[in-house]
Amino acid sequence: MAQLSDDCFAFGGPLKSVDETVALLTSRLEAVEETETVSLGSADGRVLAEDVMAPLALPPFTNSAVDGYAVSGANLPQTGERAYPLAGRLEAGMAPGSPVPEGRVVRIFTGAAMPEGTDTVFMQEDVRLDETGRAILPPGLKQGANVRPAGEDIAAGKTVLRAGHRMRPQDVALAAAMGLSEVTVRRRIRVAVFSTGNEIVAPGRQRSPTQLFDSNRFMLIAMLGRLGCHVTDLGILRDDPDAIADSLLTAATAHDMILTSGGVSTGEADYVKQSVEQVGSLVFWRVAIKPGRPVAMGVIRGAAFIGLPGNPVASFVTFAHIARPAILALAGAQLPPQLPISVRAAFSYRKKKGRREYVRASLRRAEDGSYEAVKFPREGAGLLSSLVETDGLVELDEECTGIEAGQTVSFIAYSNLI
Ligand code: AMP
Ligand code: MG
Repeated sequence: MAQLSDDCFAFGGPLKSVDETVALLTSRLEAVEETETVSLGSADGRVLAEDVMAPLALPPFTNSAVDGYAVSGANLPQTGERAYPLAGRLEAGMAPGSPVPEGRVVRIFTGAAMPEGTDTVFMQEDVRLDETGRAILPPGLKQGANVRPAGEDIAAGKTVLRAGHRMRPQDVALAAAMGLSEVTVRRRIRVAVFSTGNEIVAPGRQRSPTQLFDSNRFMLIAMLGRLGCHVTDLGILRDDPDAIADSLLTAATAHDMILTSGGVSTGEADYVKQSVEQVGSLVFWRVAIKPGRPVAMGVIRGAAFIGLPGNPVASFVTFAHIARPAILALAGAQLPPQLPISVRAAFSYRKKKGRREYVRASLRRAEDGSYEAVKFPREGAGLLSSLVETDGLVELDEECTGIEAGQTVSFIAYSNLI
């Protein structure tokens, strides 16, 4: 029986590494320029078009961090308890009123402004009231305890969010806390998505016995949605180079990017590259990534073109590692770090030098409490179950020729990838 290597049918010529490909894409792709102002309620996921400076210190005034009793910390009891008469009561939102004389306490609640003459708060759990209503303060509390000074969180004037940052819920909260009601963001990028292949049919349609339901298009649309793109679903293209070229050309006029899956390999019915060349230019297309290779990239009438492989796992991996950085660059967003974590491999694996491989794996808690990566038992790039039943990807770099069980590897959770 023949023992063909995995890539015996590959074209000659140099492969591009993932890093080179991403560096090229991000340096060549220019961010969309148009900006818009959005209210905070719709700011999550949007890309800031300009830096945000704090117009207000946070907290804006010094306030109590607890429910308790506010007092001057200058002469606190050091050894025994001491009784302090009450000089008032302050709830959150109240104006602090007149200064508190030395030797007196004010009943205060969390978030209330510290009145003049006080700088320390005793927690109510640590204080008793005597029969005349005086507060008995225990010894040993440090001056300044349980107080949140004005500006301890954010100083007024500080740059708190940078242009290119994608807003997260906590960033929206920060903008709101500083009194901003809207932010200036770049417009959403417009991405057209196609599937290709005579064997591909839309879910809900009649499927012949030799056809597959289209899964890639829905996966890609979902991932583009998470990146904040405005997506146009352009359906499935037949394996016909002229029809593909026509559709690409039409899509290019109204979109910043065209994303396809399938038809970019070296098979005779893989027409996408040829169609791109008919209406635009194909810049490079072989990337040293597994699963994944090949990926096609090009430009059609000023729109970026990325052609992902048809196998669903290859499509997923190349979207995450190649299309996503390109999309973020077009959107004017910084590329967030993938934050791989070091875990123990619970498997051994052989690989070829010179390409980066991603191994689908689940995380399992080992007996000693640490985590280990368990490889999905099968490797096919068409196995959707391998993505559904795992937690992320173990990344094996170009130099690596294999790993043994017990070795430390880098694991990237899907939640950090898409
Ligand atoms: P291709 O890259 O066109 O040669 O496709 C590689 C493999 O992926 C083939 O088995 C295709 O049937 C499959 N495939 C291509 N496009 C899709 C799709 N949209 N959804 C599911 N499988 C696909
Ligand atoms: Mg095909």
